[in-house]
Amino acid sequence: MHLSQTLALAGKTAVVTGSTSGIGLGIATALARAGANIVLNGFGDVAAALARIEAAGVRAAHHDADMSRPADIEALMAFATNTFGSLDILVNNAGIQYVETIEHFPAERWDQIIAVNLSATFHATRAALPIMRAAGWGRVINIASVHGLVGSVGKSAYVAAKHGVIGLTKVAALETARSGVTVNAICPGWVLTPLVQKQIDDLAHRESISTEDATLKLLGEKQPSGRFASVEQIGGVAVFLCSEAASEMRGAELKVDGGWLAQ
Ligand code: NAD
Repeated sequence: MHLSQTLALAGKTAVVTGSTSGIGLGIATALARAGANIVLNGFGDVAAALARIEAAGVRAAHHDADMSRPADIEALMAFATNTFGSLDILVNNAGIQYVETIEHFPAERWDQIIAVNLSATFHATRAALPIMRAAGWGRVINIASVHGLVGSVGKSAYVAAKHGVIGLTKVAALETARSGVTVNAICPGWVLTPLVQKQIDDLAHRESISTEDATLKLLGEKQPSGRFASVEQIGGVAVFLCSEAASEMRGAELKVDGGWLAQ
């Protein structure tokens, strides 16, 4: 039977940061189809994202927290419990990218990437854990990246932040190891989302090649499958991490990378 048909997450509340597009929206949709009420967050098309979640027959709300601001993050967590009465699943997904060599990397871009991709995960987890511990059950799912485990040229801030997310995942998993709360990371390779489309467009422009050739080049350099992973596949892994079968997975790094890290 398909996991989503069991509605295993009925009555639970999930906060998915950065979920108005891409992987976040894919995960929010998968959790909604498994029955969870969803708090969306992010700066994209809010109405379209809300409609997509509500189509799954669950309740949905949006909070416009800027994940680079700790006070906003506290407000987001309070909003979830006030709106739906609980906070059971936290998906730390909001993320941004900037590609430049270290010598030319603007310092303010570094600060911004560390704030959104790493510090937000700490602040949100810090706010969520007491609530989950009190309920005796919880899931924290951190969307890291293959770049939490290896580096790539031009991505100093992103790689540093994602390695930090992997470290934070391990510590949070240890600190909750004797509870019903688990903390794990998903490490996607290339997934076709607005964040990656921008890198394809930049490559096409930089090397004066077509978008199709830039796409093949981007995939060919790193991802042995030659294909993107999909947001639906990442969503399915998140639903699995919320299942009973995953109850003793703690501090894991689940790679969904078309073989990137098998090389
Ligand atoms: P995306 O650009 O499609 O989505 C990012 C989301 O985060 C959007 O909803 C955006 O509005 C939101 N966001 C950005 N800054 C924010 C802020 N300050 N506060 C609140 N929300 C903010 O990107 P994506 O590719 O879906 O990336 C999602 C996550 O997956 C990121 O953490 C990214 O690092 C990670 N990831 C992506 C890939 C990939 O190939 N796409 C691979 C590995 C990891």
